[in-house]
This record gives sequence, C-alpha cells and structure tokens, in this order.
Amino acid sequence: MSNTMGAFVKSLLKVVGDSVSGLHEPVFLGNEKRYLDECIESGYVSSVGSFVGRFEKDLMSYVGASHAVAVVNGTAGLHLALVASGVLPGDEVIVPALSFVATANAVSQAGAVPHFVDVNDETWGLDPHALRAHLGKVGKKSGRRLLNRASGRPIVAIIAMHTLGHPADVLGIARVAEDFGLSFIEDAAESIGSFAGGQHTGLFGSVGVFSFNGNKTITTGGGGALVTDNEELAHRLRHLSTTARKPHKWEFDHDEVGYNYRMPNINAALGVAQLERLPELVMGQRKLFTRYQIELEGYSFGVLRSERPGTTSNYWLQAFCLGSEFKGARNDFISSCLAAGLGVRPMWKPLNSLKPYENAPSSITPVTDDLYGRTICLPSSAALGFPHRQT
Ligand SMILES: *Cc1c(COP(=O)(O)O)cnc(C)c1O
Repeated sequence: MSNTMGAFVKSLLKVVGDSVSGLHEPVFLGNEKRYLDECIESGYVSSVGSFVGRFEKDLMSYVGASHAVAVVNGTAGLHLALVASGVLPGDEVIVPALSFVATANAVSQAGAVPHFVDVNDETWGLDPHALRAHLGKVGKKSGRRLLNRASGRPIVAIIAMHTLGHPADVLGIARVAEDFGLSFIEDAAESIGSFAGGQHTGLFGSVGVFSFNGNKTITTGGGGALVTDNEELAHRLRHLSTTARKPHKWEFDHDEVGYNYRMPNINAALGVAQLERLPELVMGQRKLFTRYQIELEGYSFGVLRSERPGTTSNYWLQAFCLGSEFKGARNDFISSCLAAGLGVRPMWKPLNSLKPYENAPSSITPVTDDLYGRTICLPSSAALGFPHRQT
C-alpha cells in the first residue's frame, strides 16, 4: 500500500511541480491592478461606483442571463434567493447532503430548515429519482402545498448544487420541482463556466447563485452574484440587497427590512478584470484535468472525476475517487500528499452528519456517504494548466 501511495504522490508532483501547491489559488493575468487603481483614484470603493454595474453587465453577457445582481458573497446570495423566492421561517428546503455547509446555512439563516436528499453517483448532484421517491414518501399534499408528513412543515423549495463544477441533472430536478410545485434555486457557487446542454448553469431554475470567493474559478476577493431571467425577481433581489431603500434623490425611505448585501465597487473592479480572463482560466482548469489524466490513468486503485456526456465542466476542483476496496486508506493517502506539500483535501463531511444538522430531516444518503469516504480533491489552480507560462 505504501508503494501505491508513493507512486500516487510522485504522479501528482509531476503535475504540480513546485510551483503552486494549495487546493485552489487565484490567478491574476490581466487588468486587475489597473482597475483597482482606477477604482481607488475614483474615490468610489464602496457601494456606489461604475465597476459594479459593469461587472453585472459582463456577467450577464458571459452567462446569457437577462439580469444579474452582484452581492457580498455566495452565502448572502443564497440567503437572498431564498427570501426573494418566498421561503418563510418554518418552511423546509431540499438541499443535497453532499455540499459545502453554506448551502444549508443559507437555509437556516432564512429561518427555514434544510431537508437533505442524497446525490447521484454519476453527477454528484441531487438525484432526481431519489428526490422524487423521497418526496412521494415523506410528502403529503395539502391544497397546493406539500407538507412533510413527519414534521408537519411545508416543503417549499429545492436547491441543487453543481458539485466541483460538474453540472447536476438540472432538467430532471426541474421536472421534480414542477411536479411537486416547489421553487428551484441553483447553488452555482462552483460552476461559473460550466454548461449543461449548451446552457450556462444557474439558468435552469428561477435563480442561480455564483460565488467569487478567493478559491473559486474567478474571484472578487469576497463576492457573489445572482442571475435570473425573471425581471420582477431581479428587481426584488436588487431592492432587498440594498437595504430595501426606495429610489429617491435624497430621502432615506425603506419599505421593508432589507440587507446590506451589495457588492462593493472595489471588489467589482477586481471582478471585471477576472471576468475578462474567465475563458482562459476555465481552459487552464480543463487542461489541468488532461495533465492529471496522463499521470493517473494507469492506476487501478481509483479514477479521476471526469466530465459527463452532454455537459461542459469548468473542472473547478479536480477529484480522484478511490475504488471501494481502497476506501479505508483515504486518510493515509491524504496524509502522504500533505506531507509532500500537496494541498489535497477530502470532500465535505455529509451535511446531515454535521452537529447543527444531525437532527434535520433527511433521506438515507448512501451515495453521499460513499463519495465522501472515497474522494480526494487535488490541487486545482488554473495556473497548473499552463505549466510553462509565467503567471
Ligand atoms: C463557495 C461555496 C458557497 C459560498 O460562497 P461564499 O462566497 O464563500 O459565501 C456556497 N455553496 C457552495 C457549494 C460553495 O462551494
């Protein structure tokens, strides 16, 4: 076994070299410093300034959305999406058991209760068949509402997530949402640059949410954005993100309790420069997959996570999935990599096993538990896709 691990570490080092070794470092190739300078010169670094509007416009055109609202981070974006979709305290929202904790936390922050459902072993996103079967079993129709038989609470929305940048089965999930009368929100935090059937992720439900945290494909330092084709919803998102202030030249008049969620101009300045290079960065992440594939192809103890037919993945995080018989050795693999300076990580612990959520409603989650036990996330910075270029 230690031979196997030694060979694995050696292969990874061939790809990573001694250049970048964290899990996902940002890459600044273009106008970042110039726009930040411009922003500081202008004096508008905060919630007013031209970069925010420009960032939203550029994002709309890249994604193909009619509306975009830039916010302070992805978690705030998810919270806003839930509130604007009419999710109320005491409601339940379907969340994949395999996700970063922010997906569930946003639901809690809206006063609602996450209700976990298992993922599919090919997409690693919500499994529409498991979802339909689970809702059929635990749900009970009451007029136009769907109630959880056990808790008595209404189930009102579904959040799907595109795990590591690979699109979930969005059409299948959208059909379940429609059949059960639920809102459909996409946590597209990891999937800027990922498409399903030619359409950008984030546009399959009523609203999609991106994150531009420092470890994502492009970064604004901290930041996020919501995209939607629904004009009324876009208005409401913008209104709620800016303290629900009524447009007026000088009066401070607010018509409901709003949030201070608007992206600051200085973050948007960084974002405009990053968006200009997005196609290149995605290409870097995709090339990195090929580089890992060449090194890891021969190994019988596991496989590299690859793109599903009919989808284009941004390959945000590269992942190596150990065969079932090697599951017990995951932590040893991780320790060996870390000792060699390789910034690898396991997947997130299943959300329904975390302390704040251990009593939350959940389906059984064998696929989530299995993937968690077998997967190692590899160093994934786009810079590793261009090993011969100075960045
Ligand atoms: C990064 C991430 C978020 C949260 O984004 P922040 O900008 O860090 O708040 C939400 N969901 C998923 C799946 C993520 O990976």
